[in-house]
Amino acid sequence: MARKTFIAGNWKMNKTAAETKALAEALKESLAQFGDTVTMAVCPTFTSLATAVEVLKGSNVKVGAQNIHWADNGAFTGEISGAMLKEIGVEYVIIGHSERRQYFGETDETVNKRIKAALKYELKPIVCIGETLEEREGNKTNCVLAKQLKGGLADLSAADMAKITIAYEPVWAIGTGKTATPEMAQETHAFIRATLAEMFGADVAEATVIQYGGSMKAENAGALTAQKDIDGGLIGGAALKADSFTALIANAQK
Ligand code: PEP
Repeated sequence: MARKTFIAGNWKMNKTAAETKALAEALKESLAQFGDTVTMAVCPTFTSLATAVEVLKGSNVKVGAQNIHWADNGAFTGEISGAMLKEIGVEYVIIGHSERRQYFGETDETVNKRIKAALKYELKPIVCIGETLEEREGNKTNCVLAKQLKGGLADLSAADMAKITIAYEPVWAIGTGKTATPEMAQETHAFIRATLAEMFGADVAEATVIQYGGSMKAENAGALTAQKDIDGGLIGGAALKADSFTALIANAQK
């Protein structure tokens, strides 16, 4: 079964609402050329989501959030619920980004709770996993990824998994300019798919879109996405300008 390439931009804590409007307008125009040959999304900050949804309405560019709380509502100062995201027309949500794990105490258990909340509100999770440099150098990559997958995706059904995208983001490659070689990334993506097959069956694993993330840009997007098990990218730095994001998507098209 052919998997559709999926490129999502993670804008992190960048772009005010006014800047979001300008970038979303530029992307609406520059990405129209790709039609529905590739799935495309942008993930701005919470305060810019409504603006992005408004500008991109009716276009081929979807909108995602960068986090979601697991509770429906309540005393969780500073958090945002699935109902709030759904209400403004958000379609995707990034869960478990390494920056959340590193700076905000995200664990596989909280990732799991957030995924369940996203599914409850019919939001599509983009679940991030990845190893640190120390873990890779200590030959622990597969062990770390298997633990993140088994913990993060615990108690989910095959039908739930069909709604989830996995983003493999080696922590040492994020924002550093260091990219995993296409061969190294492919080997890890194949391991992730094999682990998903063990957990959810071969058909679900075969259909799951697995993005690569970590210093992906126009120059390396073609070689990475040409790999059998690399189905797109989660993009940080190169997603912040319309020309670099558009060029990256053009090169990532299979
Ligand atoms: C990310 O943070 O998801 C990411 C991949 O960042 P960058 O592309 O800047 O490495």
